[in-house]
Amino acid sequence: LSGSGSSVMWFRKGLRIHDNPALQLASQGASHLYPLFVVDPHYMEPDPTSFSPGSSRAGLNRIKFLLESLVDLDLSLKNLGSRLLVLKGDPAEVLIRCLKEWNVRKLCFEYDTEPYYQALDTKVKNFALGAGIEVFSPVSHTLFNPTEIIERNGGKPPLTYQSFTKIAGQPPPPLTITHSSLPPIGILGSCDISEVPTIEDLGYGDAKQDEFSPFKGGESEALKRLAECMKDKAWVAKFEKPKGNPSAFLKPATTVLSPYLKFGCLSSRYFYRQIQDVYETMPKHTSPPVSLLGQLLWRDFFYTVAFGTPNFDRMKDNKICKQIPWKDDDKLLEAWRNGRTGFPWIDAIMVQLHQWGWMHHLARHCVACFLTRGDLFVHWERGRDVFERLLIDADWAINNGNWLWLSCSSFFYQYNRIYSPTSFGKKYDPNGDYIRHFLPVLKDMPRQYIYEPWSAPLSIQTKANCIIGKDYPKPVVLHDSASKECKRKMGEAYALSKELDGVVNEDDLKNLR
Ligand code: FAD
Repeated sequence: LSGSGSSVMWFRKGLRIHDNPALQLASQGASHLYPLFVVDPHYMEPDPTSFSPGSSRAGLNRIKFLLESLVDLDLSLKNLGSRLLVLKGDPAEVLIRCLKEWNVRKLCFEYDTEPYYQALDTKVKNFALGAGIEVFSPVSHTLFNPTEIIERNGGKPPLTYQSFTKIAGQPPPPLTITHSSLPPIGILGSCDISEVPTIEDLGYGDAKQDEFSPFKGGESEALKRLAECMKDKAWVAKFEKPKGNPSAFLKPATTVLSPYLKFGCLSSRYFYRQIQDVYETMPKHTSPPVSLLGQLLWRDFFYTVAFGTPNFDRMKDNKICKQIPWKDDDKLLEAWRNGRTGFPWIDAIMVQLHQWGWMHHLARHCVACFLTRGDLFVHWERGRDVFERLLIDADWAINNGNWLWLSCSSFFYQYNRIYSPTSFGKKYDPNGDYIRHFLPVLKDMPRQYIYEPWSAPLSIQTKANCIIGKDYPKPVVLHDSASKECKRKMGEAYALSKELDGVVNEDDLKNLR
């Protein structure tokens, strides 16, 4: 490529310098480089009608995490003689305006499989190609290219983890290039550029929350966290899911790298390579699906199925989703969402979701099962929406995939296996420290009643300053009868969709298409 011509590097996810093929392509041979991020008001600005602080699409914790990631990216770009150009508005309109203004020859951005980005990118790409601008959109958010995997599988996504890993093989290695500088920024013209906004700039000055997420956004933080995890080689080698304590919150039992992967502050290929490096020095290590490496493969598995399945994010017209007559019970949904079900284990997890935007995988299992096929029989799409808003790692493919799983709508069909909302947490945390932290109203409840406070005699409730039904809710359902009823309804729904019943491998599913 000749030395003339300007490039635009359009950041959306992929908020990093390391292993960033789009950035590499944008800077290669460019006379000027415009590193761009568009603040979409719908995603970032307050929506006063929402049930918790945040925009119409994201909770405040995730918006904060994103802003921190942008500040970190801006700093890294400044260290390379550049900076992040922040613009505000509808992303397609803003980008097209900039492309017109800056006499751009090349537009680069990371390929994204989410339906929202597919639609947005088609719009922008069509304009760019019509204007004679070259477009590069490499795959680097996932280990593999989902399109290639689907092609290799005969045009359909592999529907089991085993078949996925067999087809996938080894992912490409991360880029090893390190930038010492980037091309300078060209003339900005009339485009309205700003610095990364603060949370106050966005209008959240008055937002109140009891506790904010302890996880700070950004590539620097991601690489630091990853290095910390990899230092403990024995831990990496022994990592085994679903073992691990879901109630550990002072030092979580897993890496908590999901929010960094979500925004691409961390490259999954770099993470994968780092784990392989540890394995080379620790020949005795766990294997997929339970190993740490195996977790990254789960991520790619869900990305591939999500990309290749029309209407993946809903029950209707989704070929891999069981049709179940879920209830739309707003009262039960609200109790669950607000951590007011009267089951302290479930409520503490939901409070952690509000306050931190992150919970352990098994904790997510418990609340998702409780809302859907375990106790409340509320539609998984409603629970998915709450997670999508509040998780800092909320990820379209992974979130929908796991809700399909936990509600026994797809992938997993043993609906008789239900998480007990009282005894499951007790196994890990008999004293209820996790509950006491996230539900301080129960902090003085004696150990023997902490998971079932309604069973404490009134004198004990009085002594603990927590009267059930007044200071903390009574249980919204009786678990034994509610779960029995759920199982009965699941059994009926499964019997009705008999043609899909007993689907245990993808060959069966393929035959049904
Ligand atoms: P680790 O155990 O350290 O794993 C490392 C990485 O592997 C994770 O960061 C993640 O990228 C990937 N991973 C781990 N478990 C899974 C899994 N089951 N499926 C796909 N990828 C996985 N994860 C999200 O990243 N975003 C979501 O929106 C999301 N929604 C979920 C909803 C439900 C109902 C459930 C049950 C799980 C959901 N998960 C989601 C999956 C999982 O709980 C989180 O990825 C994990 O808890 C994140 O913590 P970690 O980074 O410490 O994970």
